[in-house]
Amino acid sequence: MQNFYDYSLTDFKSLTSLHGYKDVHAENFYTSKYKGSEKHIPENFIQYLKTNFNLALPKIQKIQTAEDELTVKFLVELSDGNCVETVLVPFNKKYTICISSQVGCAMKCSFCFTGTQGLKRNLEVHEIVGQYVLAYNYIKENFPEKFAAPNIVFMGQGEPLHNFDNIKRAISIFLEVRGLHLGPRQITLSTAGYLPGLKKIEELNQVNIALSFHSPFNNQRDELIPLNKAYPIEEIVSTLKDIPRLKRQYLTFEYLIIKDMNHSEEHVQEIVKLLSGLPVIFNLIPFNEFPGAKYKRPLDKDVDNFKQRLVDHGFFASVRKTKGDDILAACGQLNTKS
Ligand code: SAH
Repeated sequence: MQNFYDYSLTDFKSLTSLHGYKDVHAENFYTSKYKGSEKHIPENFIQYLKTNFNLALPKIQKIQTAEDELTVKFLVELSDGNCVETVLVPFNKKYTICISSQVGCAMKCSFCFTGTQGLKRNLEVHEIVGQYVLAYNYIKENFPEKFAAPNIVFMGQGEPLHNFDNIKRAISIFLEVRGLHLGPRQITLSTAGYLPGLKKIEELNQVNIALSFHSPFNNQRDELIPLNKAYPIEEIVSTLKDIPRLKRQYLTFEYLIIKDMNHSEEHVQEIVKLLSGLPVIFNLIPFNEFPGAKYKRPLDKDVDNFKQRLVDHGFFASVRKTKGDDILAACGQLNTKS
């Protein structure tokens, strides 16, 4: 049976009107599902929906709360028994929901725990949207003071641009004025640099783009992100230069800092050469260790130095505070096989 959370409002209305139901009722139902507001919906329409649509969200199989008592990791079970992880990350007064795009991941980045499990399959639209809805419901119940619609980062398991069509449809559902009505700047899509997806990024309604950068040198980036062998960094950077941006919209470059590996002065100089003219904000992520990891976390002073050198060269840079690493909910620690 078709899942309700697969549908944009336009598609939902076309389908229900084919069966003789009024647009206004379809709209009211759609809004009530996403916004929780009470609307009058005729009984016969409700009966039709119940028999023709699956209205179920994925199941929360396990909830872990970190020591900060605010970062929450959900193990989410899909209808075929596969699981993905969704993480609530506190950010000022609001939450950001970190959403997975695939079961596992094909990218095999050498520093990432998710990569060790390989790719099982793409997530369906309703599984992507469903993670948001269930996490938002949890916030409303447990942290009612943080009820504002959370931001989204596609930084969970998987490579979102590798599941382009479903991510695209999910984004259009997130932006729907009669539904969740998020703004494009509330959504950030992070990619390891999957060029075929970046080339059609304009189809994604100008959401924020983050690149997992990690090194300006191809030989080193090849080791960290094998995908770089197919799509080297200069090609990615030149594609990023051509992407239209909203006013004051920056590109985020995530930079994983690994002890004694990628935070030298040569790295700084090469970064300056490669990125001049691009409006980049650096998001520095000290490497998070996980069982079996071959890299080490850098010293705090090395992270601060590297940040300062980037700032000296006119970049914005901040260090991402690690949240939830005690429950393996931090970046690169998501793994549903362990
Ligand atoms: N595939 C996409 C989405 C995943 S985002 C991408 O690569 O961007 C997850 C972020 O966490 C990426 O920036 C990734 O490089 C980073 N990451 C992965 N493993 C990590 C680890 N062990 N420590 C810190 N960050 C890590």
